[in-house]
Amino acid sequence: MRQPLVVGNWKMNGTRDSVRQLLDAIVAGVSADSPVAVGVCPPYVFIPQAAQHLSGTPVLLGAQNVADHEAGAYTGEVSASMLKEFDCKLAIVGHSERRSLYGESDALVAARYQQAIDHGLTPLLCIGETLEQREAGETFAVVDSQLDAVLEKAGIQSLSKAVIAYEPVWAIGTGKTATPQQAQEVHAHIRQRIAAQDADIAGQVRILYGGSVNDANAKSLFGMADIDGGLIGGASLKADAFLTIVQSAAETI
Ligand code: PEP
Repeated sequence: MRQPLVVGNWKMNGTRDSVRQLLDAIVAGVSADSPVAVGVCPPYVFIPQAAQHLSGTPVLLGAQNVADHEAGAYTGEVSASMLKEFDCKLAIVGHSERRSLYGESDALVAARYQQAIDHGLTPLLCIGETLEQREAGETFAVVDSQLDAVLEKAGIQSLSKAVIAYEPVWAIGTGKTATPQQAQEVHAHIRQRIAAQDADIAGQVRILYGGSVNDANAKSLFGMADIDGGLIGGASLKADAFLTIVQSAAETI
């Protein structure tokens, strides 16, 4: 049985005060025996504050990216070992905003993923197609090549310590959600592709859906057989909506 996971990606939002308020509300809403694993990924600068706030709570702390090197002359980057010092458990890698706005290649994403694995951070690997690619019938080919780039570097076994997020680019921040059937089709494909290499790992690995998930549509998405929770952007900035999404995941168990 795969424990559902719901993770908030706060992107470049927040102030010290809003972070405190949001974390207060999330901590109050997630019990120690929650059947759903819950995480938040604030901007780097708020990670020390969040680490302190979340200490002793079941809410997992994550980063929105992680450096592709151990240490050194890499201005602007934050290493996996630094994140570990602040109790981070998760690191998003390959988010489509990083790929499209900052030109992150599959090779760079694979190196970031490898760093997370090497340092005991759980990489949350984002893969997904653009609208143009979907309309050209290339969805499976795109997610396959994004996944393969990582597995060729890190190996199939690394997936036992990772999470995949299928995030169709056309659904991120647009208010357009994939239908549960559209999402399930791609999730099942990803799982089958992994199963072709290792059936056990395919059965264990959590595949989250991301793309305009909100408190109204979460339950129907999470109810699909191969959807194991969500990576939530906009709706994770509102505690009520985020906690309703967490509750929706609990109701599908
Ligand atoms: C995301 O940033 O990963 C995301 C899914 O954003 P949103 O929920 O706002 O579409």
